[in-house]
Amino acid sequence: MSLTSTLKLNNGKEIPAIGLGVYKVEAGDEVYQSVKSALEVGYRHIDTASLYGNEEGVGQAIKDSGIPREEIFVTTKVWNDEQGYEETKAAFQRSLDRLQMDYVDLYLVHWPVPGKFKETYKALEEIYREGKAKSIGVSNFMPHHLEELMKDAEVTPVVNQIELHPQLQQDETREYCKKHGILIEAWAPLGKARYFDHPVLQELSSKHGKTPAQIIVRWQYQSEIITIPKSVHKKRQEENVDIFDFDLSSDDMEKMASMNIEKRIGKHPDEFDYGV
Ligand code: NAD
Repeated sequence: MSLTSTLKLNNGKEIPAIGLGVYKVEAGDEVYQSVKSALEVGYRHIDTASLYGNEEGVGQAIKDSGIPREEIFVTTKVWNDEQGYEETKAAFQRSLDRLQMDYVDLYLVHWPVPGKFKETYKALEEIYREGKAKSIGVSNFMPHHLEELMKDAEVTPVVNQIELHPQLQQDETREYCKKHGILIEAWAPLGKARYFDHPVLQELSSKHGKTPAQIIVRWQYQSEIITIPKSVHKKRQEENVDIFDFDLSSDDMEKMASMNIEKRIGKHPDEFDYGV
């Protein structure tokens, strides 16, 4: 078990179970340095998006790292105002150009824009068939969005990237996805570091001699949830993945489960202002 441990996607490809998120990391030097240091730490999975405005720096850092492209798993996403069949195909090419890549490992529909996400996904299927995205998936989809999507989809999404952390465990969506062979990827996996003082995290931290961030990442790892904690600081990037030298017991896992209060930090997908 290590930072390059992978989970198998429903199309046979592998995804490193832990990656680096770069939401709100500034374009230019900040994103460049944070991807560079993460690759030095040993991360081999980077999660960006068209929305983040930092794909250029991600691509440049990967290019300059000297690590063979095929050893790094890169995800990007189509933003809401780029959705629709033709629009998405054009948006995808812009992402590739910014990343200076000829393929991405995973391309996601960022949010289920009503009336558009099915056409958007059709473009993803086309991109997948062309081999320019090795896998395709969705983000922020509830079971009802997936039901709607799968009525016509020819390619099952490999992942659903959703807000998921100890206070928002998303049991219903997890169960639905499991049934359909779709892996869950957690965004805001650390709950944006907002409740590290929670008694359960404090208790498990003392018990294992690990930080709350490490307890959370380990919990996700043991739950087979792909996780992409964000930090721009090398020390924290190291801390967040230093989780392979301990186990959470089934009792510890139950304590983690007890933290769930279904409390979102971000928007509910059915209440998001899509502006359409
Ligand atoms: P997160 O839960 O990863 O928290 C990140 C914040 O926690 C950092 O900004 C930092 O301040 C703090 N932090 C990180 N490590 C720490 C440590 N060891 N100790 C103390 N504080 C620490 O939140 P996130 O960045 O919102 O989510 C992770 C990634 O998920 C994003 O970067 C992005 O790639 C992705 N994401 C996707 C969506 C989506 O709609 N698909 C939405 C939000 C985020």
